[in-house]
Amino acid sequence: MRCAERGVSAGELAALGVAHRRPDWPVAARFLREYVQVLALRDTTSRAGVAYDNAELLRAAAGLLREEPELLAIERRRLSTVYVDELADTDPAQLDLLELIAGDGAHLVAFADPDSSTYAFRGADPGGVTDFPDRFHAQTTYLTRSFREGSVLLGATMRVAARLRGPVRHRLLSGDPDAPPGGAEVHTFRSAASEAAYVAHRLRAAHLIDGVPWSRMAVVVRSTHLALASLQRALHQAGVPTTTHAEDLPLSVHPAVTPLLLALRCALEPERLDEDAAIALLHSPLGGADPMAERRLRQGLRALALAAGDRRPSGVLLVEALRDPRDLLAVERRWAAPARAVAHLLTVVREAAERPGATAEDTLWALWQASGLAERWAATSARGGHRGATADRDLDAVMVLFDTVARFTDRLPGAGTEVFLDHLLGQELPADSRAATADRGQAVRILTAHAAKGLEWDVVMIPGVQEGIWPDLRLRGSVLGSEQLVDVLAGRVLGAVGQTAALLDEERRLFYVAVTRARRRVVVTAVSSGDGEEQPSRFLTELSGEDPEESPTSTRLPRALTLPALVAELRGAVADPASPAARRRAAATHLARLAQAGVRGADPDDWWGLRQLSDDRPLRDDGEPVTVTPSTVESVQRCSLRWLLERHGGATRATPEQGVGNLVHAAAMLATGAQVDRATLVEYVSGRFDEIELSARWLAGRERERAEDMIDKLVGWVAANPRKLAAIEAEFLVQLDEVTRIRGRVDRLEIDDEGRLVVIDLKTGKTTSVTEADLPVHPQLAAYQAAVEAGAFEDLGGAMLVQLGSHTNVKEQTQPPLSGSEDPEWAATMVKRTAATMAAATFQAVVNSKCRNCPVRTSCPVGGKGRQVTDETGRPRPGPLPRDPGEGS
Ligand code: SF4
Repeated sequence: MRCAERGVSAGELAALGVAHRRPDWPVAARFLREYVQVLALRDTTSRAGVAYDNAELLRAAAGLLREEPELLAIERRRLSTVYVDELADTDPAQLDLLELIAGDGAHLVAFADPDSSTYAFRGADPGGVTDFPDRFHAQTTYLTRSFREGSVLLGATMRVAARLRGPVRHRLLSGDPDAPPGGAEVHTFRSAASEAAYVAHRLRAAHLIDGVPWSRMAVVVRSTHLALASLQRALHQAGVPTTTHAEDLPLSVHPAVTPLLLALRCALEPERLDEDAAIALLHSPLGGADPMAERRLRQGLRALALAAGDRRPSGVLLVEALRDPRDLLAVERRWAAPARAVAHLLTVVREAAERPGATAEDTLWALWQASGLAERWAATSARGGHRGATADRDLDAVMVLFDTVARFTDRLPGAGTEVFLDHLLGQELPADSRAATADRGQAVRILTAHAAKGLEWDVVMIPGVQEGIWPDLRLRGSVLGSEQLVDVLAGRVLGAVGQTAALLDEERRLFYVAVTRARRRVVVTAVSSGDGEEQPSRFLTELSGEDPEESPTSTRLPRALTLPALVAELRGAVADPASPAARRRAAATHLARLAQAGVRGADPDDWWGLRQLSDDRPLRDDGEPVTVTPSTVESVQRCSLRWLLERHGGATRATPEQGVGNLVHAAAMLATGAQVDRATLVEYVSGRFDEIELSARWLAGRERERAEDMIDKLVGWVAANPRKLAAIEAEFLVQLDEVTRIRGRVDRLEIDDEGRLVVIDLKTGKTTSVTEADLPVHPQLAAYQAAVEAGAFEDLGGAMLVQLGSHTNVKEQTQPPLSGSEDPEWAATMVKRTAATMAAATFQAVVNSKCRNCPVRTSCPVGGKGRQVTDETGRPRPGPLPRDPGEGS
């Protein structure tokens, strides 16, 4: 395309390749020659005509006009005046055509700001502005007044422009005298979450306090791929309505378009339909499933599979059901419906694509029609409201998609749907579209700096201005070095340093375009993580005019302008005995007003921390039996609050590591003889491995290796074990006193050379090893021993942990028999104490080494967020409000 724009023939390209040591250019030249020949042939033989790209179209038009002087003369007479906007973004082919139709004395007016040329990657050359007066014998007039920015804002944006190379005369601008001075701000934050919260806060403040309509504010980003989803989430949560126009985003990331493209991809390349894709399709508007429906569908498919002896995980069954929906007939209709809909659409796409001569447009149309989305979204749109606006935007996006596929098909009639998908999914910037969409409703627009060009808003937020992202100085010349070709043709012979400088200019111009979109205020933000990993861009100091050597101070996040945040602040003030009396009274008055208006959390009756205990009775009535297991003893001893909360719904699912450990543990129960067959154990584990829910597929290989490693250790340990096996998985239940009993199951019961029983507990965790100092008092082993002493098994010779998971070799950790200790009753006493703790009315949080991984720490008063409800010292409790001096007694 660059050759076409710049009128470079295949022969010239080959010669340039030799001259500039680019061996790939002569090869590309051969392709170009062939390509031109094929186009010419098709022009004469095919009714489809020639498919031109932009540059070729311009060159072809110019060629035709040159060949037909009469036509050119008519055209020149017809165009009494030619106006050119954004001259700085034109490429040589456009200027050549312009010269043909409007050069040589025609009335031609061109507007340009060389500082805002941002389309070098599409062939634009800001150098065209410098050459323009000579080439077109034009007089240059400089506009000296900004019609957008007030003086202060203009001063800030000019600081950015001043760093750009090139002509400077056009920068002698004065601010709009009728506008307020405006301003530019830069802020840095410790994390991206704080940054997004601040953006939301400033938008809300501008709207609620300064009265700026939502539609007169925008968030401009460098790349929607990097920032869109998290920003939208943060703004949505803060109650800021946002909109993204289809033409502002790369089409493939638009929420309405993504599932359509995914369905096309999965239908035509079935290997792409994996579990993630299946779930995405089911939850998309094409399937319409919610999490509950997905769960029920999985359960239904798994139940069917298990009945047929198939133990594969539900994710695999889900994918299979979308490929071949016959099994779905046996699943309850309402849970199977989303999967049946998606499976049907995949079939429709496949059939449409197989029809002779089918184009990408035909295939997409077949999918769209079969989906029924047109009718559904049109009906939602007609109902109006927020959902209606979303449906409008979705329909707009689909219009743009059809416009894009139509143009693609016109341009490359022979290309299949897969080529179209590659083309679309490779786009990082919004493509030009003739199907521009309407500005709908009051919402803050989120868009890229490229898409923002030519637009303006009162307030513009520009988040994510990080070094490495903006400017992005990765040399991104295409494989064939098209940027280098452009430089060579423009007479700029650049090394790597020169290319980086040119790239920095381009990025700075893009930033300049972004900051100059604001009429009143522009706010630029970045993350400064403090560890050097995330650094604010150099553009921040260029805009603020601060010393780049000074490290920026992080901005404190102000209180959110939301009702919950206001209520929280008022509650904090009213409950703080150290707060001045007048402030506490004022806060109480406001809270009373809010409570009267029904605002949640304003009425003290809603304050959980002030509530009395709902029930202060013990968990077990006096004398009621309590059953303790050896593993419970350990967890209750460590932190009884965690035990209580985990026992009553706070436990999390087993981690993949725990799943693998449990599987090896189960396999170890097959080790009944001295000679264990390794293959049997490995086969047992392999056959059930897929049942473990791994958080990532790549973990599978690593965890399999870990499982086999533990099996090897087990086999070696059993072979070298001098004791005899007495029982595997031996169960016991013994009474310690009137209320306490111990129930459990020992992994292995073995007989030592003195004929005594030894309890073996296999451990497969990575962190289950016990220090030598702790071993004699290890609660779980002690509980086993206490059970044996109470008559579970006879004549015990100690208890032992066998560590398979935490060491290179198997490690045995033996607790000597209780009979040898000073107080042989200590273990039984500990179990009874555990039973008493389990039956009590209060439970203690005890900080310990496992707090970091505690699943209930958000409810924990010492280790987590639960502190705000129960802590009497860290958080002010409401004391009596001081009396108003004017109040009577
Ligand atoms: Fe207990 Fe620590 Fe969990 Fe708190 S965080 S409940 S102290 S284990």
